[in-house]
Amino acid sequence: MAANGLPETMKAVVVHGPHDYRLEQVPVPKAHAGELVLKVEACGICAGDVKTWQGAARFWGGNGQPKYVKEPVIPGHEFLGRVAAVGEGVNDFAIGDRLIAEQIVPCGHCRFCFRGQYWMCERHDVYGFQDNVNGGMAEYMRIPAESMPYVHRVPDALPLETAVLIEPFSCSMHTVIRADVQIGDVVVLSGCGPLGLGMIGPLLQRGPSALIALDLKESRLELAQKFGATHVYNPRDVDVVSTVKEMTEGYGADIYIEATGAPASVIQGLDVLRRLGRFVEMSVFGEPTTVDWSIISDTKELDVLGVHLSPYCYPLVINGLTNGTIPSQGVVTHQFPLDDFLEGFETMATARDNAIKVILRP
Ligand SMILES: [Zn+2]
Ligand SMILES: [Zn+2]
Repeated sequence: MAANGLPETMKAVVVHGPHDYRLEQVPVPKAHAGELVLKVEACGICAGDVKTWQGAARFWGGNGQPKYVKEPVIPGHEFLGRVAAVGEGVNDFAIGDRLIAEQIVPCGHCRFCFRGQYWMCERHDVYGFQDNVNGGMAEYMRIPAESMPYVHRVPDALPLETAVLIEPFSCSMHTVIRADVQIGDVVVLSGCGPLGLGMIGPLLQRGPSALIALDLKESRLELAQKFGATHVYNPRDVDVVSTVKEMTEGYGADIYIEATGAPASVIQGLDVLRRLGRFVEMSVFGEPTTVDWSIISDTKELDVLGVHLSPYCYPLVINGLTNGTIPSQGVVTHQFPLDDFLEGFETMATARDNAIKVILRP
């Protein structure tokens, strides 16, 4: 035991390279001035974590993308925990407080940070990808001073399986806000993974006349229906484009939200949208998509919007999960101790046993 009552070392997953993740004994971080140390309650495995583990160019460089990961690093940005150590000068939080920090640790001084667009911070340190901001797949983690303005309290009463969804569901919330759904819109939601499922509550609050959820897995469609999607279709069984056109007097959907990361879903979206429709892209892709861009210009004059992270959404989602306007039950399907993290990654990667969200409990 150290002077602050924390152990000297802890168990952590450490990223050394693609497919080279090891369970190691590492020093417990210290809370320096202005910082906190959390005892991690749980940490979700994100699709991005799986793609990093698999070596995707988006994270390791290649395909015209720079290298993003700075290893060795402890992964995990979907964490929450309780304060275990408080640094000098921190007065807002005390030992035992339950809280969550937003996934990005903004630099505070780039053009985007100055303009309040902190989620696009040029430095772009996200917990669990850079060695200076280790993530939550460990017993303890450090919340650096730059992260403190983006820390939120989590109600003690929120069950762990719900609270661990705050990060992904905040990304879902940002997507819905970007989509700017109007009362009466016909919305197609392609992909009912954790992020797509997290959009259903906020989408319904926007009053669409139809919310058509698509997925290739029946268990996900069942959950989407339970959460309130008005129509659920498996594109393997249903011709989505002609079905949606029939529902809309031949025009097509007003809004298409792409949440699968699969090129076929992009092409389907451009096809199913009406003229002057809105395409919202929130996925990370493992491979490029090739498509005729004249659909976006000449044929339909579409609005195409990208989505990244979850600015100003954590408080909305904590509220929505607490008051029940954001349904979440059934999204977390698997829990593993840190020792079995590889099984967790494999379960998430293959979506075996109807896995949707897999979490680790240090
Ligand atoms: Zn995530
Ligand atoms: Zn910045």
